[in-house]
Amino acid sequence: MKTVAIVGGGASGLVAAIAAAERVRDLGIRAEVVIYEGDERVGRPILATGNGRCNFSNSQLAVEKYRNAEFVRKAYDCLEDPECDEPAHQVMGFLESCGLEWREESDGRRYPLANKASVVVDVLRAAAARLDVHMQCGKAVKAVEPPRGEGKRFTLRMEDGVFERADVVVVSCGGRALKSLDVEGLRRTVQRPVLGPLRVVDADIPFVRELDNIRVRCDVMLLRGKPGVQECLASESGELMFRKYGVSGICVFDLSRIAEVGDVLRIDLLKADELDRAENYLLARRAELVTRFGERLTCADMLRGLVLPRVSEALLKRAGMKEEDVCDKARAKKLAELLTRLNLEVAGIGDADICQVQRGGFSVEQFDPATLQATAVPGLFATGEALDVDGPCGGYNLHWAWASGLLAGHAAAEHANLHSKGETRHIATGEGDSR
Ligand SMILES: Cc1cc2nc3c(=O)[nH]c(=O)nc-3n(C[C@H](O)[C@H](O)[C@H](O)COP(=O)(O)OP(=O)(O)OC[C@H]3O[C@@H](n4cnc5c(N)ncnc54)[C@H](O)[C@@H]3O)c2cc1C
Repeated sequence: MKTVAIVGGGASGLVAAIAAAERVRDLGIRAEVVIYEGDERVGRPILATGNGRCNFSNSQLAVEKYRNAEFVRKAYDCLEDPECDEPAHQVMGFLESCGLEWREESDGRRYPLANKASVVVDVLRAAAARLDVHMQCGKAVKAVEPPRGEGKRFTLRMEDGVFERADVVVVSCGGRALKSLDVEGLRRTVQRPVLGPLRVVDADIPFVRELDNIRVRCDVMLLRGKPGVQECLASESGELMFRKYGVSGICVFDLSRIAEVGDVLRIDLLKADELDRAENYLLARRAELVTRFGERLTCADMLRGLVLPRVSEALLKRAGMKEEDVCDKARAKKLAELLTRLNLEVAGIGDADICQVQRGGFSVEQFDPATLQATAVPGLFATGEALDVDGPCGGYNLHWAWASGLLAGHAAAEHANLHSKGETRHIATGEGDSR
């Protein structure tokens, strides 16, 4: 009997286990599929996704947005559907075959029809149970050691001191836990949390602190370089939330994938794009308000109705103006600049615990994108965040988790199949499979 061991029963591990068990059944191999999960239950990480609703995929995935996009593209090509040009569309067929009903919201984001992440976990757990996947929960793996020679097996060293053997291993432990999992024979890239809030430099803290928990709709640009020669690296549009330490919100999360210390977040509260347009708009607004309020129109009058009162207060303070100051043309222009070019300097990630993804992991050059098998360690596979792949918000990361789980699960079963043919030969020549 062969053993396919999956280290971690989160998003990609559950799918890898189901895919491997299905292939084992279809090929008629004598093999068991075992998930070693450190937590008390499998599937827990999925429950927190999409604010508990699980944004599990996206019909408008732009593969180039993934880190290591070429590798991801090659992997997704292996899961193409001739009927459909969505990347790795077989993922949807797989989830539907497990019984998942879903619906699409704005920007192609897909959620379970029942609008609860727990439904996704339920269908995957049930599919795994139907296929006799053994779930060894509360069993954290500490180290994975490759076979020490021909016909030998992998050793999985557990946190509790015991060890298990396996013929094939799929590392699906996610990004955060990868740091403390010792896997012999593979190179890793440096890991850091991304898809989270950004911290700003001390000089900008008084401003953001006053606005803690305030949400605004805006455009945000990420700028790099010296003032005057700054390059715009990326821009996002959407809701931004001020925090005591910086800024949060989905548009900030996406920018956190590229932001570095010293970069500037330029917030455009008017979504005006060009400063000229903002100035013209504010001057026109001023002219209109002056006809009602008279020439004594104040700066507070100018911002009232345009932004929230707390935003108005904080902006005026930042501009060195008082609420009661008369809003002449020069002040209107200054406010236009502040509203469209509210620059905050990045000091780093705001709160690593809120970050959705851990960037880094096993460097992808060591893996075959079609199978996710490590070329230097036959029989060792990796999925999801254990690989140095991440994408923006919007279902990208779970889509990768499912797709990589499918590829690795199928290939892991096929590897076990090859070995079970080899096993007959070993037994005939009297060689066992013990280490
Ligand atoms: C709050 C939050 C919200 C998110 N929302 C979304 C979203 O809406 N859409 C989206 O696409 N992505 C989302 N993501 C990202 C997505 O959840 C992950 O990218 C995805 O779950 C990664 O899958 P994985 O299989 O690599 O790891 P995980 O799903 O994290 O699973 C890893 C599993 O391995 C187990 N494990 C760890 N170490 C060991 C060990 N040593 N031995 C045994 N078991 C171990 C863990 O307990 C866990 O069950 C979100 C992430 C977070 C944190």
